[in-house]
Amino acid sequence: MTKRNYLLLTPGPLSTSESVKRAMLQDWCTWDKDYNEGVVTVIRRKLLEIAGLDEKEYTTVLLQGSGTYGVEATLGATVRPEDKLLIVANGAYGKRMATIADYYHLNYVLVSLKETELVTPEIVVRALDEHPGITHFSVVHSETTTGLLNPIEGIAEVLRGRGITWIVDAMSSFGGIPIDIRGLGIDFLISSANKCIQGVPGFTFIIARREKLEACKGVARSLSLDIYAQWEEMERGHGKWRFTSPTHVVRAFFQALKELEEEGGIEARYIRYCRNHRALVEGMAAAGFRTLLSPEKQSPIITSFLYPDAAFSFTEFYDALKQRGFVIYPGKVSDADTFRIGTIGDVYPEDFQRLTKEIRDMREG
Ligand SMILES: *Cc1c(COP(=O)(O)O)cnc(C)c1O
Repeated sequence: MTKRNYLLLTPGPLSTSESVKRAMLQDWCTWDKDYNEGVVTVIRRKLLEIAGLDEKEYTTVLLQGSGTYGVEATLGATVRPEDKLLIVANGAYGKRMATIADYYHLNYVLVSLKETELVTPEIVVRALDEHPGITHFSVVHSETTTGLLNPIEGIAEVLRGRGITWIVDAMSSFGGIPIDIRGLGIDFLISSANKCIQGVPGFTFIIARREKLEACKGVARSLSLDIYAQWEEMERGHGKWRFTSPTHVVRAFFQALKELEEEGGIEARYIRYCRNHRALVEGMAAAGFRTLLSPEKQSPIITSFLYPDAAFSFTEFYDALKQRGFVIYPGKVSDADTFRIGTIGDVYPEDFQRLTKEIRDMREG
C-alpha cells in the first residue's frame, strides 16, 4: 500500500482506490488488440450498459483531455453556423459553455441566472418563447460551482417534441446520480474519467444518440476535438483512438468501472454519496457551519458552506485541514463567502465523521 498524502475532498480529481491506482502499473500498446478490444471497447460497451442504453440507439466517444475538452468538442461538432444554441447557466460551468460558443463564433443566446437559482422548466420555456429558432439547448446537470442540481427531468418535458438537440454537461453527476438518458431524450451527455466513475484524470467521454452523432460529420472546426472523426476511428478500428491515447488512465478507468459494478452500480453509488453528504452536513452543522443552498437545490456531489463569521480565514482553515489529512476546495460564488467540500470518490461516511470531528476540535480548540 502506498501511503495516502491526504484525502482529496474535491470533486475531481478525487480520491481513487488503491486498486485503481495499481491498474496503471503496466504499459499498453495503443495499436494492439489487447488494449483496443480488451480495454477500450469494453469501456465503451460498459458505459452504455451502466446508462441502461442500447447500442443500436446510443454510442460513445472517448476523447483525450479534461472535461472541458469534451464540452468544447461537443458544442464545436454539433452546432452548425446556421443553428442557434440556447445556454441557460447558473454557475461557472454553464458560463464556460458560452465562452466556448464565443471562441467558435456560434450563434447563441445565454440566459444567465444567479448561482443559487435553479434552471427550472419555466425558465427554459420562457427562454425558448423569447428566442424563436433555437435548434440546440445546453445545460449543466450538477453545477459543481455551488453543488446545485438542476432539475433535468422537468426540463425534459419542456423540450419534448420540439426537435431541439439537447446537450447535458453531466460531468460531476454521471455515474453518481441515476440519469435516464433515453427517457429524458438527452442527445449528448458529457462526463470525464476523474469524477463519479472514480478514475484518474486524462480523458473525457460523450454518450451520444447515434443518429445525432452521425449527422456531425464535417461540422467540427477542430481536428483533435472532432468527435465524429474520433468516433468513426473507434468504430472502424475496434477501439482505436486517432492520436496517442492516455493508456494508463484508460486502464485505470477500466478498473474503476469494474469497481462501480462491484459496488452495485450507479444506484448504490448514489446512496453512498447521499450518506457521505448527510454525514458531512450534520457534522458541519454541529461545528457551526451552514450550507449556502437549501436542501431541495442541493446535490450529494459537493456542498458549499458559508464562512461562519467575518474573522474566518479560509487559508488558515485549509492549511490546518491539510495537516490533518484532508484537502478541500475554495468557494466559487460571486456574492457570498464560501468554501466547498466534495463527497464523491473513494470516500465513505466515516471519513466525513472524522473530518467534521477534526473541524469541531479546531473550532473549539
Ligand atoms: C469538472 C467539471 C467540468 C470540467 O472541468 P475540467 O477542469 O475541464 O475537468 C465541466 N463541468 C462540470 C459541471 C464539472 O464539474
